[in-house]
Amino acid sequence: MPTHSHPALFDDLADLPDGDERPDRTTFFADVILPLPLPRLYTYRVPHALRDAVGVGLRVVVQFGKQKVLSCVVAAVHQTPPREYEAKYVLEVIDEQPVVTAPQLRLFEWMAAYYMCTLGEVLNAALPTALKLSSESQLQLRADYDETADTNYALSAAEEIIVQNLRRNAETGEFPTLAFSDVARLLDQPAFHKHIKSLLAKNVITLFESVQDKYAPKVVRRLRLAHHFVNDPELLTELLHQLEKKPKQVDAVMQYLREIPVYQAPALNHRGLPKAKLAQNPALSDSAINSLIRNGIFETFDQVESRFPTDGNAVMPEIILSPVQEAARNRILELYATKNIVLLHGVTGSGKTEVYIELIRAALESGGQILYLLPEIALTAQIVTRLQRVFGTRLGVYHSKFSDNERVEVWNGILSGRFSVIVGARSAVFLPFHRLSLIIVDEEHESSYKQYEPAPRYHARETALMLAQYQGAKVLLGSATPAIETYHNCQAGKWGLVELRQRYGSGGMPEIKLVDTKKARAQKAMRHDFTPELIEEIQVRLDRSEQVILFQNRRGYAPYINCNACAWIPKCPNCAVSLTLHNRANELRCHYCGFVQPRVRQCPACGGISITPIGFGTEKVEEDVKELVPTAAVQRMDLDTTRGKNALQHIIADFEKGVTNVLVGTQMVTKGLDFQRVSLVGILNADAIIHYPDFRAHERAFQLFTQVAGRAGRAAVKGEVLIQTADPTQSIFALVANNDYAGLYEKELQERANYEYPPFVRIVTLTVKHAEQHLAQAAANKLVEELVARLERHAVLGPEAPYVFRIRNLFLFEIHVKLSRAHSTLAEAKEKIRDAMTAVQTMPEGKGARIVVDVDPV
Ligand code: ADP
Ligand code: ZN
Ligand code: ZN
Repeated sequence: MPTHSHPALFDDLADLPDGDERPDRTTFFADVILPLPLPRLYTYRVPHALRDAVGVGLRVVVQFGKQKVLSCVVAAVHQTPPREYEAKYVLEVIDEQPVVTAPQLRLFEWMAAYYMCTLGEVLNAALPTALKLSSESQLQLRADYDETADTNYALSAAEEIIVQNLRRNAETGEFPTLAFSDVARLLDQPAFHKHIKSLLAKNVITLFESVQDKYAPKVVRRLRLAHHFVNDPELLTELLHQLEKKPKQVDAVMQYLREIPVYQAPALNHRGLPKAKLAQNPALSDSAINSLIRNGIFETFDQVESRFPTDGNAVMPEIILSPVQEAARNRILELYATKNIVLLHGVTGSGKTEVYIELIRAALESGGQILYLLPEIALTAQIVTRLQRVFGTRLGVYHSKFSDNERVEVWNGILSGRFSVIVGARSAVFLPFHRLSLIIVDEEHESSYKQYEPAPRYHARETALMLAQYQGAKVLLGSATPAIETYHNCQAGKWGLVELRQRYGSGGMPEIKLVDTKKARAQKAMRHDFTPELIEEIQVRLDRSEQVILFQNRRGYAPYINCNACAWIPKCPNCAVSLTLHNRANELRCHYCGFVQPRVRQCPACGGISITPIGFGTEKVEEDVKELVPTAAVQRMDLDTTRGKNALQHIIADFEKGVTNVLVGTQMVTKGLDFQRVSLVGILNADAIIHYPDFRAHERAFQLFTQVAGRAGRAAVKGEVLIQTADPTQSIFALVANNDYAGLYEKELQERANYEYPPFVRIVTLTVKHAEQHLAQAAANKLVEELVARLERHAVLGPEAPYVFRIRNLFLFEIHVKLSRAHSTLAEAKEKIRDAMTAVQTMPEGKGARIVVDVDPV
């Protein structure tokens, strides 16, 4: 029986829909996903008038708490009123078409359950801001919105009001922003979301959530001939006569007409020319162009350059697979008859990408959608270019460096069928696929597929496997150095395995040499952190016009500095780590929280002025190689040199063109790059990587060394790798040198079986955080007690302070729970962990403590 339990509230917020009085109708309820970390869905009553409008995947507006009005996504519609509370009404339905499809919701529900987070958190990560319409969103006029364009859609009165308030400030040139609350106030109504959605659809506004997402378009100032001259050629002739005394202006107009043949094709005038293009003609003067603009002969407008190529000529060059590649491709297709998941284990440079391209092409021809996942898309611009050449405008690219508008463009392009092949970083698993037939996970072993912060802490490979299962798609995992867990599934016969053991072409695998730094130090032969062998090899390569990659897994100049007199080391005030010296910036920085202070020249403890950098990072390697090998044209590739949107592309392009011949970098240089003239790779400090305190340290080291070595000798020139280490006898080196993945696998699997690590168990790590060390410890102890009460004692390890035991002023304690791999008991065990967490958080010991869950940490 529909009754108005809160008529007053309801009247406050929206008109009571007609027909609600009639008691003969069934009442519907909607479970909604609020954009908040709430453990459960919330149920709202659907007013009869909105009954047909409400559906799964649509956004609706509801009131939550006292005053908050939120937009949220409907997860289910049913007839069961909530038992514990009186349901409030749905206030507004925003969409006609679902923004989240039913298959997506199914995957999101799996993610929330498996990764122990809330559906709201998953949705928050999944949706681009413009599809969230969250109350934190701000709106801004799009820089490319041209109010005068006659192609615009008409605006409603409410939309006009919003646009009025977003106009660019003529003096500062800045675009003002409005918060959702401002819009509610301006329009004097809480049901304003429809207007925002409509303005988004009409390409008038853009949404952003935090300042860094604020739309910073690449605006190009263009100019065109004023409209009336285009309609009336005589007027122009007259004008040119008038300008007779100003030949420079005549030149400018004539040059414009040469570029844009306005009278043959008037439509061309609308897009005009970039102003800079006209101005760069040395014969034309800026002041002449500016006078023409001032006098209304040229008009200027701003245009945002689109990222996606729109020319439709998709070229499909024939790729001719080598016989080995073809055999691999055929074997993969054969295995797909009985297996859904296949691993392509191919050595670096074996031409896996070409095999992927052929498989994508086949899947595309049979009408499916394809998802191609890459660990970090910014690093693989080379691959995107290769794919773009083959798949043209059917290829969409999706990753977090894109602006929100670009992301929405891809999202909608999948729904509309514009894009059939998506290449993306991990967040591409959230996209609204509906007929996915193939997922490729390239470099499947990469740990950057895992999201650390914030929740959902998901692994894109695992999520992709689930996505494929739901959509009936096949999966191809590709790597030269597969994750132990992945290989284990192949060995167990669950997944198919196909191998490529040779490089494409004649190059052959690079030769690996070990250089003993301890010996060199004893002989006082080291120069900075370089052995004489490495210096000489670099010189030899550069003399032959070949190129060199140097890998050091630390950025900055030195990991810390040290007072020679009293051994004082500057530490981060917020974290338990030393500050890294950044020499060029003259700063000490914390790599955990971002704290920065000027470089210290005098020891604050003893007043001494002799302070030495200890250890070395990429910045120092760059400086030293310049000094030691004067012919080196060095560039550095790490987080610090690649912050700008196109910085990385420039570094890669310079190296490709041979402008630079030595590339120094962190892990970034190890991944996916394909350069023809690199014949030497140097690993400066292998030991720091091997001795990392983690059960995966050896696997990681093998992967890193093999991958970075794989950058050498990819074409005709023979590649060589020099590894500097204090102990060349370590067993890992023999494995790397012989390219012995099977050896690594055997050894690792044995250890993991002995000590109970994945793939034999699953790990869930709980991190307890508190500003007070003893309270963090107490909460962690309590949590262990609660876990032990619910699980077996030996399954719970810790609490233990991690190596970096304090970050951002919070003390950390970790607890590792080892769970059986059986699916049946896994969900149950997670339920118990959840219970234990809730129990602690409601106890005095848990007060003020935060508990973070990470399922399958990597
Ligand atoms: P991987 O991903 O296995 O490390 P790539 O796919 O990058 O290897 O291939 C290595 C190099 O060999 C690339 O430069 C690629 O263009 C080239 N290559 C591979 N297969 C072919 C082919 N069938 N025809 C022409 N060039 C190829
Ligand atoms: Zn000192
Ligand atoms: Zn810090």
